[in-house]
Amino acid sequence: MSNEGDNNETSREAAGVASVGRPSLLRRLAWRSTPRIRRVNAIAIMVAAVLAIVAIATVDMVYEADGRAEQSQREYAACTAAAFELQNASDCLTSEARLYVVTGNRVHLDKYLEELNVADHRGKAVETIRSIMKDAEAAADLNEALEFSNRLAERELYAMRLRAEADGLVDKPAGVSAVELRESDVQLSAEGKVDRAVELLISDAYDDSKSDINERIDECLADLMSQLQRISDESTAELSRQLDNMHVIMLLLLGIIVLVIFAMIFFVLWPSVVYARHIQHGERLELIGAYELKRLVDAYNDMHDESRRRTKQLEHDVVSDPLTGLLNRGAYDAILAEQDGAFALLIIDIDNFKGCNDTYGHDVGDSVLKKVARVVSDSFRSSDHVCRIGGDEFVVIMTNVTAELRDVVARKVEAMAGKLADGPDDGLPRVTLSVGIAFSDDASDSDGLYRAADHALYEVKGRGRNGYAFFETGE
Ligand code: GH3
Ligand code: MG
Repeated sequence: MSNEGDNNETSREAAGVASVGRPSLLRRLAWRSTPRIRRVNAIAIMVAAVLAIVAIATVDMVYEADGRAEQSQREYAACTAAAFELQNASDCLTSEARLYVVTGNRVHLDKYLEELNVADHRGKAVETIRSIMKDAEAAADLNEALEFSNRLAERELYAMRLRAEADGLVDKPAGVSAVELRESDVQLSAEGKVDRAVELLISDAYDDSKSDINERIDECLADLMSQLQRISDESTAELSRQLDNMHVIMLLLLGIIVLVIFAMIFFVLWPSVVYARHIQHGERLELIGAYELKRLVDAYNDMHDESRRRTKQLEHDVVSDPLTGLLNRGAYDAILAEQDGAFALLIIDIDNFKGCNDTYGHDVGDSVLKKVARVVSDSFRSSDHVCRIGGDEFVVIMTNVTAELRDVVARKVEAMAGKLADGPDDGLPRVTLSVGIAFSDDASDSDGLYRAADHALYEVKGRGRNGYAFFETGE
C-alpha cells in the first residue's frame, strides 16, 4: 500500500501534478524545492535530541569539574591538618624531652616514648599526606621535615639517656636504654650529665633544627597551596569552557525552535489562511505551502475543476437544446422575461418538415434540424438570441431593434433563406422556411408578442410557405 502511495507521490511530483495543462519547468522546480513538513519535523527532532544529549554530557562534565575542585579542596584541608599534626607531634616531643631532662620526672620520659613509638602522630601525618599528595615537591619537603624530626628525636633520646644515667634510673625503657652514650659523656658526673642533656635540648643549635623542620612544613604547605590553586584554576577554566558550550547548545536549540516555528508559519499556517480565503471565494487554490499541503491543493484543485466543469455542463444542459446546441424553450422564456429595450421576435418554422421526416427518415430529419440551426445562428449577431422552442420551430430575439429596421431584418431573413436554398449540396434534402416577425412595440407582454409573430407566421403558411411576414398592427 505504502509503495503504491510513494509511487503515486513520485509520479505526481515528477509530472508536476499537472491538474491543468502540461507541467511547466517552474512548477516542477516549485515542487522539488518544497520542504516536507514530515522531514522538517524529523530533522528538527533528531538535531534537538543530539543537542539534548550533548547538553546532558556537558552538564555531567560541569559536575565532574566541580567535583574535582571540591575533591582537591578536601585533600588540601586533609594535608594541611596532617602537616599541623606533624608539627604538633614534633613540638610535643620537644616539650616532653625538655621537661624530662630539666625535671627528671619519669612521666615525661614515658609520655615522650609513648608519642614517639606508640601514638606516632608524625608517622601517621606523613602517611596521610603521602596517600593524598601528587605533588612531588611537597612530598620531598615533608620527607625532609620528617628526616629533620627523626634526627632531632635521636638528639632528644640521647639527652634523655644522659638524664636517666644521671638519675641512676634502673628500669630504663627500651627506647632510651638502646642509646649508646659517647665515652666522654659517660665519664661526666651526674650533674655534668644533666647539664650536658639540658645543653643538648635547650640551645640555639636545637632551635635551628626545629626551625628547619617548621620551614620544611611551611614549604610543603605552600607547595600544596599552589597545587590546589592550579587544580582550582583548571577546574574553573573547564567550568567556564563547558558553560560556553552550554550557551552555544542553548542558542542552537533556540534557533531550531525558531526555525520550526517559522517553517510552520510559512509552510502551514500562512498557506492555510490563503487557502481558506480562496475556498471562501470559490476559487482554485494557489500552489503554496509544504509538500503535503501542495498535494492537498492539487487534489482540491482537481475536484474544484471537475466540479466547475460539471456545473457548467449542467448549466449548459439546463438552457440548451441537446440536438442543435441552441438555447431551449426554458432559456427562451427566461431571456424574453428579462428583455428590456426594443427588440424583434422572429418565429421560424420549417416548411413541410413532417414530409421530410416521412420521406428520408428521422435521422435525416435530425440532420436537417441541425443544419437549419447552424444557418439561423450564423445569420444573426452574437448579441441576438437563437432558440429552438419546438420540433421544427425556432425563435430569434433580435436585441436593440425597432420596427424602423424592418428592412434590415427582412434582408437578414432573405439571406438566411438564400443560404438554405442555394448553399452547397451536402446530401441533405433542401428545405424552406416560413418566418413570422413582430416587434416589441406590437404587444404589451411576451405572450402577446409571441402570438403576434405566430400570427404573421400563420399568414406566411397560408400564403403557401417559403417566405416571411411582419405582424401588422390592427390585424
Ligand atoms: P408545416 O409546413 O405546416 O409546418 O408542416 P410540417 O410538416 O412542418 O408540420 P409541423 O410543423 O407540425 O411538423 C413538425 C414535425 O417535426 C412533426 C414531428 O414529427 C417533427 N419533429 C419534431 N421534433 C423532431 C425531432 O426532434 N426530430 C425530427 N427528425 N423530427 C421532429
Ligand atoms: Mg413545420
